[in-house]
Amino acid sequence: MATQVHSRRYQRTFYDRPSVPGARPDSYNARMANGPDILVIGGGIIGLTCAIRLREAGATVAVYDRGDLGREASWAGAGIIPPGNPDRAATPLDKLRAIGSATLPDVSAELANATGIDNGYRINGGLEFLTPADEYAVELWRAEGVAFERWDGPRLRDEEPGLSPPHSTCYHLSGMGQVRNPWHLRALIAHARDLGIALSPHTGVEGWCVENGRVRGVQLASGNRVTADRFLLAAGPWSERHLNDLNCRPTVRPIRGQILLLKTEAALLRRTLIDDKRYLVPRGDGRILVGSTEEPEAGFEKRTTEVGLANLHAFARTIVPALANAKVEASWAGLRPGSPDGMPFIGRVPGHDNVLAATGHSRAGIQLSLGTAQLVTELIFDRPTCVPKDAFALARRPDLQAKPAFRS
Ligand SMILES: Cc1cc2nc3c(=O)[nH]c(=O)nc-3n(C[C@H](O)[C@H](O)[C@H](O)COP(=O)(O)OP(=O)(O)OC[C@H]3O[C@@H](n4cnc5c(N)ncnc54)[C@H](O)[C@@H]3O)c2cc1C
Repeated sequence: MATQVHSRRYQRTFYDRPSVPGARPDSYNARMANGPDILVIGGGIIGLTCAIRLREAGATVAVYDRGDLGREASWAGAGIIPPGNPDRAATPLDKLRAIGSATLPDVSAELANATGIDNGYRINGGLEFLTPADEYAVELWRAEGVAFERWDGPRLRDEEPGLSPPHSTCYHLSGMGQVRNPWHLRALIAHARDLGIALSPHTGVEGWCVENGRVRGVQLASGNRVTADRFLLAAGPWSERHLNDLNCRPTVRPIRGQILLLKTEAALLRRTLIDDKRYLVPRGDGRILVGSTEEPEAGFEKRTTEVGLANLHAFARTIVPALANAKVEASWAGLRPGSPDGMPFIGRVPGHDNVLAATGHSRAGIQLSLGTAQLVTELIFDRPTCVPKDAFALARRPDLQAKPAFRS
């Protein structure tokens, strides 16, 4: 069985690079007074993580969000973090995910040190149930050097006695982890503030200010204009409208996902369990998160439905029968930024050199956030990139055959 290898070539913490060498806070403030180097539209996990990386690379940065920071899909997600080895990942998508897997332990520790906020990152292991059609994933794990083991019925019963498992083949992934999204976002917001990033919640961007073919600023909902040298659009499923205004149509659409939170007295499950698109994520305190639906037809309607929650509850009861008696503690819905092939769009907006987008992360925006921020920083600072520059280009053709190593 292979072990995971972590490479120093990936930025492991938010502190690997010094921010603006020799810069003093007053010079930073003076620079900000003329408008930020980079204006980020959207303060979800993608916008915030990119903002921090860009700030650490030396840029002055401002983040605008039309609502509270980090309260959309980034807050709603389950926070599953699959294992990964960036040096051996097969595809650009797997590499971005693996950068996150490899660096999140250090980033979490550094965030806790800097802010006093624990983001809840922990490795609790995972059980993936694969049908024959999904068995291709095993070869990808092997090639990447991800630790896994096939578990038969008796082993599964020993390890997780509360399970009534699906009939498909079970693989144990010891390196599967999780993060508590709301806690992680709180830590990101606090850290961004400490770094001097200007955060403006409840300040929606209405449109672009274009002069002589170049984007010079944005128009806020208040009617004010804000200028910047460069722009990063990270507005989740709301990005499409702003891209269309620049004649770019990658087709980012909302895909609603509902989640149910159950609470039991006894811990009924230790590991995250993934069965196709549905999963159980034990939080380690008797709570089990049950996810999730995939509802593209719901559009921007962010609400739970009786049918959606009933299906999730039935799934939970089938897999862990004792959950029939669990208390339903909460339920919620979020809008994933979906793309035609499930892969994100990360890159320059064609025809607009100073505007980049990072959106369309679909089911995997939490695990892809650190890799995305690394790529965005490399693109903006014209550095060698961790994956081919155009791997996630906005004008790329959707790759409908793409098969990532992990589905959640
Ligand atoms: C139920 C569910 C479960 C999930 N589980 C996982 C998981 O286990 N692991 C994982 O990796 N991913 C998971 N995801 C996916 C992940 O949550 C998303 O891919 C990710 O949160 C997308 O982040 P984002 O920053 O692009 O978008 P968002 O979180 O939507 O942030 C976009 C921000 O832009 C702001 N905005 C929009 N328009 C404007 C404007 N005009 N001006 C200013 N601001 C604007 C919004 O207010 C919002 O705060 C899950 C998602 C859901 C819904």
